[in-house]
Amino acid sequence: MQVALAFAAVLVVPLRASANGIVSHMHISDLALRRLPPGELRDLLSDPELVDIYRAGSVFPDSGYAASDAYGEICHWEPFTTAYIRWIRENHGDDLTTPEARFHIAFLMGQASHGLADQVFDSLFMARTTQLDGDSSNLDTAAEGWLVVEHDPRNEIEAVFDGEAMVDVFAGYPELLDDHDPDAATFETGRVQISRAIGAIYAFGWTWYDMYWIEMPWAATHYYEADNVPGSLPHVATFVAEYWQVLWERVHGRDTLGESFLGTWPEDGAVNFETARDRVESRAMIVFGHGLDRSTFGGNVRLLDPEGAVVPAEARFIYGSPFANAILVQANDDLAYDTEYVVEVGTGVRDIDARAIPEPVSFSFRTRCAPDRLGDCPPLPEEWVRPEDPMPPPRDAGRPRRPDGGTDAGIDAGSEATIDAGTPDVGGGGGCATSGASSGALLGLAVTWLARRRRTR
Ligand SMILES: [Zn+2]
Repeated sequence: MQVALAFAAVLVVPLRASANGIVSHMHISDLALRRLPPGELRDLLSDPELVDIYRAGSVFPDSGYAASDAYGEICHWEPFTTAYIRWIRENHGDDLTTPEARFHIAFLMGQASHGLADQVFDSLFMARTTQLDGDSSNLDTAAEGWLVVEHDPRNEIEAVFDGEAMVDVFAGYPELLDDHDPDAATFETGRVQISRAIGAIYAFGWTWYDMYWIEMPWAATHYYEADNVPGSLPHVATFVAEYWQVLWERVHGRDTLGESFLGTWPEDGAVNFETARDRVESRAMIVFGHGLDRSTFGGNVRLLDPEGAVVPAEARFIYGSPFANAILVQANDDLAYDTEYVVEVGTGVRDIDARAIPEPVSFSFRTRCAPDRLGDCPPLPEEWVRPEDPMPPPRDAGRPRRPDGGTDAGIDAGSEATIDAGTPDVGGGGGCATSGASSGALLGLAVTWLARRRRTR
């Protein structure tokens, strides 16, 4: 009965989740908070009154899909982040320490976390899943199940939005927001739907754990790997923590593009970079904390060989927004073996406000050695081999593990970020404790069907 009810609940949530699922988005923000240096921003986001507000912001963009409204897609991108920052400054700029201002800063951080996480995750992790598991179309839903079972994120919330403020943001900056004018009722619909979806994932994510584990064993075993897995949830969180610090400056009106650089993949000085263009690993990424103008990349985002010559390459965002944060750079042809390349973002690149980057930003990496010269390079990492018969790890009769001590796979540091929003009653009795039951598979399929992503821009 309980399963049937929840199944119905899932069916009425027209959720088109994005690259990361919604619980994953909240968790990425939780992880990012633990990475912030001590200071005002960390204090604000750690405020027990505001933890669930940044979490609500972290699911806000996808709530628009749940409400079947264009605000969902719009709120994924920097033009919205920029508009929201302007709105905060115009309405609360005199005193950013009021409860209202702090609410909106926390919500902004969540919204921006979501947007950046989708860019980084899709550019790095989802692309690898497609390559190594063959298909990533169910990845967002799948990872929600793996996450709630394996890492017990404890962030099940009833989302809180300030719909009137959102109406005001859209009304105030139509030039940034496609002249879209959603009303408060639409945001309320999104809020209700996304809250239901969070509950459904907590209640039933375990039911599709095995099915998707078998479908995507590489993704299942790597989505939470902190080291050397680009785009894993902890890796995404490192970019979000850097982004938040830039946003903190932006909301205070003291940001500079010179301090906008957040990080890269691979890291500066990396070795064994992939040479083959048809491999996703040959794609480099450089990330900024402002919305950069894609139309200014030509001739200004460059891949350089050891002589400083320009290597023909494309520079783009993962999706079609004209303003975003993560620039992907990939050579048009295979790279040379055992060669150092530089990615440079030059001073011709501008942000959404037409400000230019004051100094070029660059990083370098060295490509792997040729197969017959492997001894000249550091050892290559072991190649992933898909198991003949992928076998999920045994679990306790399909019930999520619920560690009592708040231990969270060793990632945790500082428990203020994990203030519990109430431990959900998962499983709900013997009938639900059969892993891989057909109802579970059906649920998974239903959610997958509902979770088709729409990227329109
Ligand atoms: Zn999304």
